[in-house]
Amino acid sequence: MPKNDSVTRAMTNDGAFRIIAARTTDTTQQVVGAQNLKGPVAHDLADLVTTSILYRETMAPTLRVQCIVRLEDGAGQLVADSHPDGSTRGLVQPGPAGVQPDIRQTRATLEMMRTLPNSELHRGVVEVPEGGNLSDAFMRYMQLSEQIVSMIALGSVVEGDKPAAGGYVVQVLPEAAEAETAMATMTRRLEDFVEIRERLQESDGSPSQLIEQIFEGMPFTWLQTSDIRFDCPCSEVRVMTTLSVLPRSEVQELVDEGEPLSIGCDYCGTSYTVEIAQLQGLLSSS
Ligand SMILES: [Zn+2]
Repeated sequence: MPKNDSVTRAMTNDGAFRIIAARTTDTTQQVVGAQNLKGPVAHDLADLVTTSILYRETMAPTLRVQCIVRLEDGAGQLVADSHPDGSTRGLVQPGPAGVQPDIRQTRATLEMMRTLPNSELHRGVVEVPEGGNLSDAFMRYMQLSEQIVSMIALGSVVEGDKPAAGGYVVQVLPEAAEAETAMATMTRRLEDFVEIRERLQESDGSPSQLIEQIFEGMPFTWLQTSDIRFDCPCSEVRVMTTLSVLPRSEVQELVDEGEPLSIGCDYCGTSYTVEIAQLQGLLSSS
């Protein structure tokens, strides 16, 4: 039984399919816990965090990726970031009056971004299908923005005493002989793997068990496994960097108020205290 979150890959020996499966139970528990989220929004953020991990592992293992679900009319957004070292975080930004974003009720888009080595952003946006299914939105993105046919399922149980989260991406490889037949066979097989929450709970989210079930009876080869964890790159240095780009007059106002500044990170809940002397330091160095 796996004790840690991880991503595992495998490929069928006929070269027709590649699978990438993830266990994200601990990461999503910590993301949701850090913001004290409950109900549908906690579930949606967990699925988006899994999306960001699978997206990076599928399209850009060595790049930083970000996924944003943006609700129409400023009704809030959900954000997930995943980094090449496996560190991942997520955030819910509520709409007006603190109402939690609900993608079942409000139309939304899914925006997927990766930062290229030259710092440019590669970006694609699709509509989240009505009803708010993020697995379908992710599949739509892969098809429309990346021209990759894939079958994807995400699943998360964030509340109760048996949490579990994870998902998979199955890709039909372009070099597959008789790709259409292979696709039809896999589509039928995956009908039993659209709803994966119970499976994830039973296997403690094991990505290898999920792969064994999906590729049952098909000779396949295990590829690499990598670790995933909740981590936030916030730091005092980053807080100071953010403050250093404020207009001088605003920093001066903060100094004049005469109280240390307290800044909390929305992603992880860490709180940073900036002393007056540090603020004065910003004024003298700029
Ligand atoms: Zn943080």
